[in-house]
Amino acid sequence: MEKNRFYSLPELPYSYNDLEPHISKEQLKIHHQKHHQAYVTGANAILEKLDKARKDGTDLDMKSTLRALSFNIGGHLLHSLFWPNLAPTGKGGGKLRGALRDTIEKEFGSIERFKKEFAQAAVSVEGSGWAVLSFCKKTNRPIIMQIEKHNTNVYPMFKILMVLDVWEHAYYIDYKNERAKFVDAFWNIVNWDGVNRRLEELLK
Ligand code: MN
Repeated sequence: MEKNRFYSLPELPYSYNDLEPHISKEQLKIHHQKHHQAYVTGANAILEKLDKARKDGTDLDMKSTLRALSFNIGGHLLHSLFWPNLAPTGKGGGKLRGALRDTIEKEFGSIERFKKEFAQAAVSVEGSGWAVLSFCKKTNRPIIMQIEKHNTNVYPMFKILMVLDVWEHAYYIDYKNERAKFVDAFWNIVNWDGVNRRLEELLK
């Protein structure tokens, strides 16, 4: 495959056991190496199919092809942000700083109120999906998105600052069906400084 015309699986910015006990080595490894990889492979296969159809001059079912492309690229991009949104146990969690703290306090009234709304968004995703903190530059508001699958309910053009994967594949080995416990654990390993850097970059 030609370089830079296809997606590739990024390395994790930490070791597979660094998020324990909040996310086990077994859970993280399968999530990264199997699930995330599947979206990379899926997206690339569809891009190759598009390349081939254009070369051969054949028609594709555009509706189903583009739906599958959106699903797989969405999955790849969200996972690629999810990994650096987490930090090793002991380094993640804690206090928010900088523009992130100011922005969240202004919009939600308090950090606790934001965390409550975000957790409620995460726990209540119907089926598989994501809770996402995004930012609207038109209104200067941080806005929570509740993405279904990897690509439904997305606001076009909003910058995504922080994501939490609440597909069962993200937590089932560690938490079985108890999504709320996984969401609670997320606050211990969230990389607030990384989220803050994304926001400060955006506000420049
Ligand atoms: Mn996932």
